[in-house]
Amino acid sequence: MTPHSILHDFLHLFFPDCCCFCGNKLNVSENGICLECLYKLPKTNNFKIPGNKAEELMAGRFPFQRIASFCVYTKDGILQKLVHQFKYNNRKEIAIMLGRLFANDILGSEFISSIDLIVPVPLHPKRLKIRGYNQSELIARGMSEVTEISVSSSNLIRSIYNPTQTKRSRTQRWENVKDIFELRNINEFANKHVLLVDDVITTGSTIEACSIPILKCNNVKISIATLGEVF
Ligand SMILES: [Zn+2]
Repeated sequence: MTPHSILHDFLHLFFPDCCCFCGNKLNVSENGICLECLYKLPKTNNFKIPGNKAEELMAGRFPFQRIASFCVYTKDGILQKLVHQFKYNNRKEIAIMLGRLFANDILGSEFISSIDLIVPVPLHPKRLKIRGYNQSELIARGMSEVTEISVSSSNLIRSIYNPTQTKRSRTQRWENVKDIFELRNINEFANKHVLLVDDVITTGSTIEACSIPILKCNNVKISIATLGEVF
């Protein structure tokens, strides 16, 4: 974190009605970010591109249909600021807003048209208790509002509490997550095309680990949507 961004986060604690990226004062209709910065979001639009970078990253690791990410996630970039707000500053409405924006873009596209169910990557109950909410579930809720596709947030569960993934290598990340997810009811996802939703995709190990129990369901298909991609 740069000294500038530390100062910025500090100021933002006391002036939450300022844009989390440029610091300009927000008007009543703006939510955490000003409209001008919102227009500058580095969208990937990769839902329109079969074989995109995210799909390349995951190819051969497990069977999936499509992967799309809303924006490019860069250090100190706009999306990083927004993710920081909803992950560590309790700004739940920002996660919902981004979910809605993403869904507005993909609405009516081939990417979303065959999806039956939106499934957020779960948090372990212990972490859920600390944060108070699952940010991926909020993104999923925002997407559901726009697409009118239901969210399933209690079937896929994180049964093992694992340390944070930040600062781990790809191999370490995989060792850390590969056995931690399970399904409560194997029938709920049978014959469904589920859209797994996460905040940011980095090495893809969390998503891959989620797919293990899901793929045990009869005739299930998986697609993936994340707000950010770090490649
Ligand atoms: Zn701004």
